[in-house]
Amino acid sequence: MSSEHFFWAEKVAEEITKQRKKEYVCEGMWSPSGFFHIGNARPEVFVPHAVYHALVEKGFKARQNLVIDDFDPIDKIPAGIPVKKEDEEKFIGVPCKLAPSPFKGHKCWADYFTSQFAGLIESFGIDLNVISAFDSYKKGKFNDLIVFSLNNSEKIVSVWNKIAGTEKPLSFLPIVVTCEQCGKSLFTNAIAWDRKKVQYECKCGFKGAVSPLNGKAKLHWRVHWVANWIVNDVAFESGGKDHFSKGGSVDMGRALMQDVFNKQPPFQIPTEFVQLHGAKISGSVGNVITLPQWLQVAAPELLRFMFFSYKPNTAIDFSFSSDSFVLLNERFERAERIFFGAEKAENEKLGEKIKQDYEIALIGKPAKEMPAQLPFSFAVFLAQLFDPVKQFNEILPVLRETGHIEGKIGKNEEAMFKEKLQRAKAWVEQYAPEKFKMQFLQQLDSGIKAQISPEAKKAFAVIAEKLLKTKNAGQIQQAIFDSAKESNVQPILLFKSLYLILLGKERGPKLGSLIIAFGKEKCIERIKEAAA
Ligand SMILES: [Zn+2]
Repeated sequence: MSSEHFFWAEKVAEEITKQRKKEYVCEGMWSPSGFFHIGNARPEVFVPHAVYHALVEKGFKARQNLVIDDFDPIDKIPAGIPVKKEDEEKFIGVPCKLAPSPFKGHKCWADYFTSQFAGLIESFGIDLNVISAFDSYKKGKFNDLIVFSLNNSEKIVSVWNKIAGTEKPLSFLPIVVTCEQCGKSLFTNAIAWDRKKVQYECKCGFKGAVSPLNGKAKLHWRVHWVANWIVNDVAFESGGKDHFSKGGSVDMGRALMQDVFNKQPPFQIPTEFVQLHGAKISGSVGNVITLPQWLQVAAPELLRFMFFSYKPNTAIDFSFSSDSFVLLNERFERAERIFFGAEKAENEKLGEKIKQDYEIALIGKPAKEMPAQLPFSFAVFLAQLFDPVKQFNEILPVLRETGHIEGKIGKNEEAMFKEKLQRAKAWVEQYAPEKFKMQFLQQLDSGIKAQISPEAKKAFAVIAEKLLKTKNAGQIQQAIFDSAKESNVQPILLFKSLYLILLGKERGPKLGSLIIAFGKEKCIERIKEAAA
């Protein structure tokens, strides 16, 4: 490959290795107070993974972590969680690891939300270490840093005030104790530190003193973030771009790391938001796409493709129920064709980028030869006519006659086609806009008939004759063009009329494929009926 980097993560990897470490830890962090969704997955899992991958490709030792910030308290009940108003009290303010699970079968709140995706990350070709922050505190990994932070609290507050322009009193202690009486950490206030215990008071009325070590208290999140870099020896981290504003949490973290802890902060890059219908994805509001939801309708490679082919600072507006999902499928299919030389990109440079985007999106190595392609839009159409599993044997001849497969296909390709059809079916059922819903028009009613011109009717009679002799989609397509020519009708008008009488819509998949999928006999009958 040329010296030019087509993959953004390679440039980031080059920056990171200036740290000259033995091993490079690429890390993300997520608070399990609500559902993990693709908006979290981009900055906390996929961006670190791309960088981790680039480091490994360059021959460096690297590791990928996802820290579950389960010592964080629940601050609100997320949408979709059936907690009654009067029961909210039991959850709000309690650390996620100590709060009960909202559903039976899980140890706690954090475990429930973590279980919804942790085992699925591997399906996306990502193998990472999942670390519980609470367990790290409990095991004492933060003990030294807690003592250091409390002993140097005035210095921390000075840096804080300087960077954020605040006037926090120097007596402020950057520690959050979990109340021994009510079990909540959201409402406690640390008052004093005597080098052994932290004195605190809680909104519940309790006043006490406790050793802040071994999981009894968590560092204030601004300091916790920095302490976590030290505990896990983090070399790279990404984060939502909101953290990167001037005087924001990134500036603060870096200043604390350098001026208080005398260490070099990790290399950090901002990641733009993923928007859903133009709105920020939010777990608490409930407009999310979770990883299980993704896998129901789309292949894991497609999410990799979306996140790796765009630079992290590119905003992504995406939703299953808009054209963005269809376009993503088509962009991936095109990248596959370009990779295998079946199509050319606009220019060579772009072609190289697209080839690399495709290769990195794959889980595992690319196939030796280009796999048979089943375009998403056609899969969507077929999945509405046939049951992808029970009627797969009926789908195969359609795929042959429409030229999507030639000769025998291997078991792998068969499985891939089945999976794609099942996902297409799920997409139609859950998200597809009306224009993608297609069935053979039940009845040729007077409303449709009225839209067919006398010229088109004449051409219909010619088509019905010609179709009898056709054997595949290509020949059907040609027969329609020939009929248009012979009958002196604009092909575009004829196509529109055919869609109308077969689908009841003005547009659809290629007519050749459509007629094969519906069944040629049935379509000829309909064309004759419309010609009469
Ligand atoms: Zn309390």
